[in-house]
Amino acid sequence: MAKNVALSCRILAKLGQFKETTGHVSARRASGDGMLIRGRGKQESGLLYTKPSDVVAADFDGRMLRDKAGLKTPNESCIHGELYRARPEVGAIVHAHPPSLVLTSMAGIELKPVFGGFDPRAMRLALRPTPVFESSLTLHTKEQVHAMMDVMGDRDICIMRGHGVVVCGKTVEDATIKAIKLDALAEMNLQFVRLGKSPPAISETDLAAFQNRTGKGDGSVEPVWRYYVEWLKNS
Ligand SMILES: [Zn+2]
Repeated sequence: MAKNVALSCRILAKLGQFKETTGHVSARRASGDGMLIRGRGKQESGLLYTKPSDVVAADFDGRMLRDKAGLKTPNESCIHGELYRARPEVGAIVHAHPPSLVLTSMAGIELKPVFGGFDPRAMRLALRPTPVFESSLTLHTKEQVHAMMDVMGDRDICIMRGHGVVVCGKTVEDATIKAIKLDALAEMNLQFVRLGKSPPAISETDLAAFQNRTGKGDGSVEPVWRYYVEWLKNS
């Protein structure tokens, strides 16, 4: 599992969702009593170069379960711990800083389902309004995280205005691909605005048809994950 956490960090960093040493990915430990989370410290070389040995085991309060020289849990570990505590279905979490989402949130651009067959998995993320948490502060306390979770509700995504995004998934693969798709959706909405146009959603008829297909057409995230693992290896 630490291997996949590290791979996720590298893939998302290569795609520009993490810069330098900020942001993190975690997975719920199979034993259920804590998490594996990307560590911070003097020994690390940033998200793009994350190794499985940079991943640390911690409880949901962010306390290390085993000491690792030169590494500690991130200051924002409580984002992960509080979500795992509150939502048993969540198996992995990405907290990234994708410029597309930071920009759309600051500019007040609502993410709309502007395309269909181009990328149905990305479009579906916008079938319901995307929650935006208004504080741009990094979240260091449980109280801050709970305020964010109130905005997030039962969604797997929450955009943090001027800060980044939290994405939950059943697995590291699932959370990673969802983060990639959310970035793709934001980027296309942003391109519309750059063209000087207000982005329209696809037609109601198309939306209804896609909604009826939900759960039938997307298939597993595994092939898409493998695509990005290969892409990382070969680029
Ligand atoms: Zn952050």
